[in-house]
Amino acid sequence: LMHLTKKLIEIRSMLLSIDQSDSLKLPSIVVIGSQSSGKSSVLEAIVGHEFLPKGNNMVTRRPIELTLIHTPAKGDGKTPEEYGEFPSLGFGKITNFAHIQQTLTDLNLAVPPEEAVSNDPIDLRIYSPHVPDLTLIDLPGYIQIASMDQPDSLKEKIAGLCERYIREPNIILAVCAADVDLANSPALRASRKVDPLGLRTIGVVTKMDLVPPEQGATILTGNRYPLHLGYVGVIAKSAGKKTSLLSAGAVAKRSEQDYFGSHREQFGASSSLMVGTDTLRRRLMEVLESSMASSLHGITNAVQLELEETTYQFKVQYNDRRITAESYVAETVDALKARFRDLSTQFRKPEVRAKLKAMLDDKVMDVLEQLYWVDKRALELGALGADSKVKPGDLDAYWRHKLEAASSLLTKSGVGRDSTLLVADGLRALIDSIAAGEPFNYHPSAAERLVQFSHAILRDRIGLTSDQVENCIKPFKYEVDVDEREWEQGRGRAMELFEKELTMCEVKLKDIRKKVGGSRRLNGLIGYVKELEERAKERKNRRLAGEDNGPEEEGESYRYPPAQILDARHAILYGDRLAILKLRLAALKSKRCKGGPENDVICPEVFLNVVADKLAYTSTMFINIELLDHFFYQFPREIDSRLIYDLDRNEIVEFARENPIIRCHLDLQQRKDKLEEVMKQLNSLSTLRPDSQPTQRRQ
Ligand code: GDP
Repeated sequence: LMHLTKKLIEIRSMLLSIDQSDSLKLPSIVVIGSQSSGKSSVLEAIVGHEFLPKGNNMVTRRPIELTLIHTPAKGDGKTPEEYGEFPSLGFGKITNFAHIQQTLTDLNLAVPPEEAVSNDPIDLRIYSPHVPDLTLIDLPGYIQIASMDQPDSLKEKIAGLCERYIREPNIILAVCAADVDLANSPALRASRKVDPLGLRTIGVVTKMDLVPPEQGATILTGNRYPLHLGYVGVIAKSAGKKTSLLSAGAVAKRSEQDYFGSHREQFGASSSLMVGTDTLRRRLMEVLESSMASSLHGITNAVQLELEETTYQFKVQYNDRRITAESYVAETVDALKARFRDLSTQFRKPEVRAKLKAMLDDKVMDVLEQLYWVDKRALELGALGADSKVKPGDLDAYWRHKLEAASSLLTKSGVGRDSTLLVADGLRALIDSIAAGEPFNYHPSAAERLVQFSHAILRDRIGLTSDQVENCIKPFKYEVDVDEREWEQGRGRAMELFEKELTMCEVKLKDIRKKVGGSRRLNGLIGYVKELEERAKERKNRRLAGEDNGPEEEGESYRYPPAQILDARHAILYGDRLAILKLRLAALKSKRCKGGPENDVICPEVFLNVVADKLAYTSTMFINIELLDHFFYQFPREIDSRLIYDLDRNEIVEFARENPIIRCHLDLQQRKDKLEEVMKQLNSLSTLRPDSQPTQRRQ
């Protein structure tokens, strides 16, 4: 049967890691008692080492789940090493029990003072040839009154904590001191509440040496407060002064044996009383064993049910598809690369060129507006173009200069920087959108890294690329050769642009007309505004000539609301713009403009359009080499090296679990695996089960 307890203790800790629900619990021994009743001394006597925190202030602030694992002597007759382990801390074997004591003290002191006690248990395992297989839970001692620096609620908090642990199926080890009336024992009182018949409570009476042997013996008979599992009397004083070379434990043990040995009359074999730490140990083993054995059937059924439910859920929710954190990470990375590849088609040469051209078209329009449309002589240019008798060579040098100025305004406008930034911003926006979308919305720190390293690649290349582009468009700053075909294409595009611009102006005008209430009203407004402007101009002239010193005219502008006056001013601007656009569009359609590149001075729109196109083409080529190729090469490699390869196993799991969908999947899968493992182990025990049929074995 020994084997059974050992196995079940293993199964118990597996079950604990599955969940904390009461239905999946195997019994453990829970140690309760008031402060200074000798609880720690008893536990240390059982283990044979001093390892629990000591101090006047209450030091047990968290439950200690103490698992004792008996390590049998090896074949070579050598006694195995004794050591402890804190599985959740990952320190490995600790052979020095003073270190265990220190660790427990530290863990206890880490509980914030305002909390005083914590429900979070400390898991400690002790491996030794001198311990039986047992699981014990040490709880904070009951206190009578909280001391000055402890919260008032502490007493209730401790009581509540103990209450949770002394529920079924656990065995209660109620520690009472012999020199204190049992009636005053909080441990017995708490036990009686949950186990009135004392079926699962063992009484431990400590400090037997402090009362006369007769009195001690009377307590152990348990006549006053009968317990089915009985009382064991011990002398387990552990904090004794080290007066000899022997360990404190050994000293305590000897004095205990001496004491009971010298009072055979009261405690001898004939008395049938249970005394001594060895007896206590044996008793605990028996009780735990039989409790475990009787729990076996119930727990097997409970695990079976739980497993069936979990298997069903796994099938329904995930169609039995198994995943790992690693596979999730790999899939995420693949999906990221694929998504990037898809989106990067927006950055092929024709697309980039179209984007750059659109940017340059805007620039061309700005240049035209600045140099031509606001020029009073613009009409003259139109007239020149219409007159087919005028040869290009006859033209005023004025227009030749103008064209050169326009061209260099365009070529020297910082095309290298602007076009590089345009493309880099596009890439940045693309990465940002990937980082903000599924599944990176679940992985904020990975998303941040993604954004950071991609921006870093771009930052590295922007300066170089824009210099390179600027360098390569340099020839266009001096001269631009345009052939017939280019001219005709440029003319077509220029007309398109003008038509678009025209439509836009018309739409705006229509909007304003609607807003102010019809074209008559708008015309009235426009007339009024023009009149105002006219008058203002006259006054200014007069004033300049010193003829008018009177006060400003007032009141007039109240004829229309100011917002409408503003609308009218806009309408005038759009109207002027429309007029000039129509004029220029007519020029673009004229024989003169159709005539070819030698008409560049008369048709600056066509010439500038061709220049813009050449700039876009050249910029695209070099941005492609210096920025895009580099980025598309570097980005997937950075994903590999910066996003995953520097993650260790724990970080991979952490990453995967950030995604709630994956976390649920992993949790359920893990639960199923653990339950299956537990079930396998339970089944392998079935031959040891007290209720198993011996006939089955014989077959
Ligand atoms: P805890 O607060 O319940 O854990 O109690 P401790 O184990 O720390 O014991 C409280 C005090 O009682 C310590 O000074 C121990 O040395 C002393 N003590 C414990 N058991 C015995 C015993 O059997 N006999 C005597 N005389 N003293 C004991």
